[in-house]
Parts: sequence; structure tokens; C-alpha cells
Amino acid sequence: MHKVVVAGGSFAGLTAAFDLKRRLGSDVEVTVISKSDQFVFIPSLIWLVPGWRTESQISFPLAPSFQKKGIRFVHDAIARIEPERNLVHTTNGAEPYDYLVVCTGPYLNFAAVPGTGPEGGYTQSVCNLPHAQIARRRWQEYLRDPGDIVVGATQGASCLGAAYEMALNQAYALVRAGIRDKVQVHFVTPEPYVAHFGLGGIEGGEAAVTRLLEKNQIQVHLNVAVDGITPDKIRLSNGEEIGYRYAALIPPFMGIEAVRNSPGIGDAKGFIPVNDYYQHSQIDNIYAAGIAVALASPDPTPVPTGAPKTAYMSEIMARTAAHNIAARIHKEKLSPVPIVDIQALCLLDAGNTGVFFMVDRLQRKTRRRTIVMPGPMMHVGKFMFEKYFMWKSRGGRTYLP
Ligand SMILES: Cc1cc2nc3c(=O)[nH]c(=O)nc-3n(C[C@H](O)[C@H](O)[C@H](O)COP(=O)(O)OP(=O)(O)OC[C@H]3O[C@@H](n4cnc5c(N)ncnc54)[C@H](O)[C@@H]3O)c2cc1C
Repeated sequence: MHKVVVAGGSFAGLTAAFDLKRRLGSDVEVTVISKSDQFVFIPSLIWLVPGWRTESQISFPLAPSFQKKGIRFVHDAIARIEPERNLVHTTNGAEPYDYLVVCTGPYLNFAAVPGTGPEGGYTQSVCNLPHAQIARRRWQEYLRDPGDIVVGATQGASCLGAAYEMALNQAYALVRAGIRDKVQVHFVTPEPYVAHFGLGGIEGGEAAVTRLLEKNQIQVHLNVAVDGITPDKIRLSNGEEIGYRYAALIPPFMGIEAVRNSPGIGDAKGFIPVNDYYQHSQIDNIYAAGIAVALASPDPTPVPTGAPKTAYMSEIMARTAAHNIAARIHKEKLSPVPIVDIQALCLLDAGNTGVFFMVDRLQRKTRRRTIVMPGPMMHVGKFMFEKYFMWKSRGGRTYLP
């Protein structure tokens, strides 16, 4: 029996594990090792902060879902990969593998901009559940003694759509708290223009997102790096200094420590170089999917931005990796899906409205089809999508769109 180890239990890890088991059945033992024993629907963490969602509404325990499908689950963190011996070392031992799929997401590199981050810095983050819980606590304290807020992303950050969502949702939370007129909301971003998103923008996206920012009277600071930060002031690279009482900034991402500790696995930032089968470019029984994968920005900017790796892209990468591992085991034809050809479906939420984006080839500048649709239904759409995605993932129905 072939042993496949999947590291990570989120968008990419769940898809890889369920798809492998479905395709290979009793020919394979699938083991998922994840640092968290929960699946968390990360796109809804923006709603956890103002208290519009609870943990139980946007997460579920992984073990029962895997158990039902005959997948072994190990709640542990991988510490190092030893490809010469086909071993993954964890905090508590080691797992042998015939194939390894690395889906471990990002390391949040707050150290790149000293003073940022909720642990040892002054800014909040919604990139994972523990950070969003701290951000919620700080938001409740802030509401008792409000003042101006700064939201956005630091130089080198990817996932810039989430920064817009944070700013728009926090502006809307201030409206609901009845204090919007007392607070100036600042949005800081390394992007050269609104909705560049680290990829050169999407036709119609800049106008749609600018309208939302203007309607919400959010003051935008474009093309800036964060030069320094103190408990009450942010200094930007254009010389501006902004006072704040609450700040939330997306940091740059790196690959996780375990990859950076394993020579030959990751690039300089700890991301994994892959080919069109999501197979490691040098090691043929290691695959990767999701944020763990190395991806160059298709449109480098004067102040650096990172290329986005969305949840949908993460699922497609994982599905392709699983399909090709199964095809190798069954000696069938392999099917490549170049990363530049993956489409993107995204809902940028603004609290009571939003913008839907559909792009056929997110990472290319020449696209054949782009849809940008703003309106209140997009907020409802994101809520419905959360419910659908939780149902689909909890039941292992990763074959559904
Ligand atoms: C606030 C926010 C909003 C977003 N909104 C959207 C959106 O609207 N639409 C969209 O498409 N995308 C959105 N994204 C992006 C989306 O969340 C990511 O694309 C997605 O989470 C990537 O999935 P992943 O499985 O690669 O990594 P992750 O979701 O980061 O998961 C990583 C997994 O690896 C595990 N792990 C980490 N380290 C270890 C270790 N050492 N050992 C074992 N396991 C480990 C973790 O526990 C976790 O299970 C948003 C992101 C953020 C932060």
C-alpha cells in the first residue's frame, strides 16, 4: 500500500487528502498532519473581529471528517523534511512517506517590519484564528475609547484583497457602533493603484473598489512602505505620519519554518518550487499546493507586493497534485494545470455590500474573460459561500466546485 502524507489541513490540505482517498481507495494510506486540529474558514475572520461571527460558525474539527473517509489524522506540527529517507519529522516523532504533499500555508513575517504583529508589536492581524481572536479583543477595548484607525498591508504583503476587506468592514463596524463620524479610517498599501492586488489589477476592479473606498470615506495612501511604527503612530515611506488608536496590517508571507529548515526543499523565502503537476521541481515524490507554493509576482511594483494565492487557486493546485499522484500510482496519463491558467473567483466584502471578481487567468496579464460585479448581493453571496464551503469541506465533498 502506498503511503501519502499531507502536511496541512486547510483549503489545500483538505482537498489533497480527500481527493487522494477518493481516487485511490484501499491502494493508499493517507495521513494528514496538521498543526491545527480545526479547519477555519479564513475569509470569514474579518467578521470575527467585530463579533458578526463566532468560532463555531466558521470552523470544524478535522479528525471526525477525516475519520469518516478512512484518512488518518495526526495533530502535530512538521519540523523538518528529510527527502533522502522519505521522512517528515514532527514535534513528536517522524512519519515515513512514499509521496508527500506540502500544504502548510504561510509563515507571517512580522519581523520584516519591526513593530507590526499582535505578539510583540502594535498592529493586529486576521490571517489566522488566534490572531483574529486577539484583534477582536483589542477591537472591543478600542470601542470604549475610539480614535483614528489604520488598516492595510505592509511592503511585500500578498493577500491584498483581505486588506481592503478589513478596512471596509471596520469602517462599516464603526457605522454600526454609531461613531463613524468621529473616526478617520486610513488605508495604507504598497500597491501603485487601488485594486492592483499584486498582479497588475483586473479590468474594472480599480473603479469598483475606489467607489467603495470613497463611499466609506476611507483615506487611501498608495505606493507606500511602512518605515516605522510606535504604539500610536505609523511613519510611511513618503514622509507621512499617521496617528492611530487601532491598526491592522497584513504582513509579508514566507514559507513555514519546517520548509526553511530543510535544505533543498524551498526557495530563499521558504516557498516550494513546483512544475505544472504541483510536483517539486527537483524531488519527484514531493508535491505542494496553496500558499506553500513559490509564485513570482506577475507585475512587480516600485514598493514590493506579493502575488495573491487565493483559496480557489489553492484547491485547484491540491486537486491537480492529488490527480497526478493517483495517475502515477495507476500508471495513467498525467494532466498538467499551469498555475498561470488557474481562474480566480473572489468576493471582496464590505460589510453590507461587496464586489465579485471572476478572472479566467489570474496570473496572466492577457485574459479572455473578466467579470467585476459590485452590489449588496455580493455580501449575501460571501455569507452563502461560507455556508456552502463549510458543508462541502466538512463532508469531504471536495469534488464539488
Ligand atoms: C483575512 C483573509 C481573507 C481572505 N479572503 C479570501 C477570499 O475571500 N477568497 C479567497 O479565495 N481567498 C481568500 N483568502 C486567502 C485564503 O485564505 C488562502 O488562499 C488559503 O487559506 C490558502 O490555503 P492553504 O491551505 O494553502 O493554507 P492555509 O489556509 O494557511 O493553511 C495552512 C495549514 O497548514 C497547517 N500548518 C501550518 N504549519 C504547519 C506545520 N508546521 N505542520 C503541520 N501543519 C502546519 C495549518 O494548521 C493549516 O491547516 C483570504 C485570506 C485572509 C488572510
